[in-house]
Amino acid sequence: MKSLADVDLHELQSALHDAALPESHALRLLLAYYKQNGVINTDALQLGAPATALFNDLLSTTHTTVAARHVSSDGTVKLLLSLRAGGTVEAVLMPSYHDTRAAGCLSSQVGCAMGCDFCASTRGGLERNLTAGEIVEQFLHLRREAATQGRRLNTVVFMGMGEPMHNLDAVATAIRRVTVPPFNLIAKRGVTVSTVGIVPGIERLASMDLNVHLALSLHAPDDETRSKLIPSNKRWKVADVMDAAKRFSESTGRVVTIEYTLLAGVNDSDAQARELSRVMHGFRAHVNLIPYNPIGPGLSGVTYEKPSVDRIERFRTILTDANVVTHVRQTRGDDVNAACGQLRHRATTLPIASV
Ligand code: SF4
Repeated sequence: MKSLADVDLHELQSALHDAALPESHALRLLLAYYKQNGVINTDALQLGAPATALFNDLLSTTHTTVAARHVSSDGTVKLLLSLRAGGTVEAVLMPSYHDTRAAGCLSSQVGCAMGCDFCASTRGGLERNLTAGEIVEQFLHLRREAATQGRRLNTVVFMGMGEPMHNLDAVATAIRRVTVPPFNLIAKRGVTVSTVGIVPGIERLASMDLNVHLALSLHAPDDETRSKLIPSNKRWKVADVMDAAKRFSESTGRVVTIEYTLLAGVNDSDAQARELSRVMHGFRAHVNLIPYNPIGPGLSGVTYEKPSVDRIERFRTILTDANVVTHVRQTRGDDVNAACGQLRHRATTLPIASV
């Protein structure tokens, strides 16, 4: 069964037209649905009995329920969402330093097939792709969380569970649904699609005219290190993924973010910082350094650690001295397992409190 998150204005108008009912109900219904972040009061909407009956299934169906909600001391909210069609995914809300804004992190798949060694999302492999409606509902859950904090969800990144390029049609449909006028739930420039480096996906995203940002999870500037961390690097090497990201930037005009999770003793040396500066040379992109949030042993059995504050600062300084725009991401939600896949992994291994 479909929920309102699965349909667009045109579909609702067509259904009303076919039933000889006023098409204007479609806009009223969707505006109310989005304005109330997925919680709709049909009595207050007064659609009339025939239209209410026509949309009975849509109005009574949701794909996602909050199975667990963890709030960090820094205000980060991590939701474990249970899916009616099976499985669980995570969505995270991070309050901005601007006290009226918040950022969200969305999942695109249940589990992940990519096998990145340091990531909890991939431990059970890929279960399935999310539908566009399931992604829209995730977005609405985060928007509701933001509203309860008096904030607006003004940026989202597809950097939760899954590789978005392997579910790009559903991701693109969901993005269009929440950015299209007259709903305008978020600006396209507020949306970032993150990839571990699926080159055909990057090219396809650039050709879709979505006008969103791209983040490339690089995590190492040399093929030897990157192939140990990210299996897909054996197919698309550092030079391949950087070239694809550069072409994306040139064709869309968007500044690309290079995501780099710092792992102590693995990818945080001075030599690797210098090599990262070299591969960034002439590229209109900035580097986002993410101090690792430990999750225990990776798939290979290696236990990764967060580098020291001094090491992180040294790595950053080498990049900035080479004129690479670099930010160190403030670690958020450590006390609620906010790293990708951690809460879901924990939920499958330990009992967690339901909401
Ligand atoms: S880091 Fe991203 S692409 Fe890699 S396994 Fe985790 S969810 Fe998948």
